[in-house]
Amino acid sequence: MKQILFLIVIASTLISCAQSSKQQKKQEGNSGKSGFIAVDTAWTTKVVKTAAEWKKILTPEQFYITRQQGTESPFSSPLYENHEEGIYFCVCCQNPLFSSATKFESGTGWPSYFAPFSSKSVSVSKDDSHGMSRDEVVCQRCNAHLGHVFNDGPKPTGLRYCMDGIALTFQKQSLNAKMSKAYFAMGCFWCMETIFESIKGVSEVVSGYSGGDKANPTYEEVGRKTTGHAEAIEILYDSTQITWPELLRVYFAAGDPTQVNGQGPDKGTPYRSVLFYRNETEKQQIEAYMTELSKSGKYDKPFAVAVEPFKVFWKAEEYHQDFVKLNPQNSYVQYESLPRLARTKEQVPDLLKK
Ligand SMILES: [Zn+2]
Repeated sequence: MKQILFLIVIASTLISCAQSSKQQKKQEGNSGKSGFIAVDTAWTTKVVKTAAEWKKILTPEQFYITRQQGTESPFSSPLYENHEEGIYFCVCCQNPLFSSATKFESGTGWPSYFAPFSSKSVSVSKDDSHGMSRDEVVCQRCNAHLGHVFNDGPKPTGLRYCMDGIALTFQKQSLNAKMSKAYFAMGCFWCMETIFESIKGVSEVVSGYSGGDKANPTYEEVGRKTTGHAEAIEILYDSTQITWPELLRVYFAAGDPTQVNGQGPDKGTPYRSVLFYRNETEKQQIEAYMTELSKSGKYDKPFAVAVEPFKVFWKAEEYHQDFVKLNPQNSYVQYESLPRLARTKEQVPDLLKK
């Protein structure tokens, strides 16, 4: 009897990925979950906001420095003494501005660099305020005031970009990294997110929707099957640490690729399995991998995984991000997500984060 009751409890809790805990209101988020910023030097649109809009997303200090041409006190920024390898982004618009490779000890008390990150990082203009003639440095994308540039820097440029640390946000990362993105769908995105976040070379996984037509869909709309979208994940990975075929290995270990329109207890087209490819090479490698796997004798049914060109990914509501990590006591997480994570890890021990 105890056993039967236990099974009933499991059965009723397994449905929950599709129900109660996801029925919260969509929340607005600015910088994303754990805040990983992708290096994007290919942007084409500038970021323009009113003062009131900037005030909503910046602290008063950040607003004063970046939007009112303020100057922070020397030696006040923790970034002045920062010697870690990584990228410095604009605090307003996440434009990559400087790399740790060009940072040097200027002795001035302000973070100093001898070159910007890319040709799209900063713009320079004359600033004759405060009785001085200086060259003001602003973010090329959002016009944030960042500091000034002087001609007394080290080789090879001889320039000293003297920056306000408050205008910058630092992200630790290997400068040799070649970051790429992958988009997969297979059942509940909470589970998929936590599985791929355990894989080496993966720096971020975002839960969202893809494969449908409606722009910016809500969780409820996707669940009602009116958008065509599947619950999907966006994986940001370093291709020098993990390859596309290795990601496919994780994908096929992450669930049952023969289950039609669903995964485990989550059934219906929003839970279908899709491998989205972004170019011909990825597509060919998916096909080759699936052909080889189907010959392995491991599966007695045909694959139910769609192979589709990637179009667009819509980030899901903030409360879906990092769900497994933030809700370890949730019954769906305990009875479905964590066992699924453990089953996957057992199959790809060589691809896990150390
Ligand atoms: Zn900016």
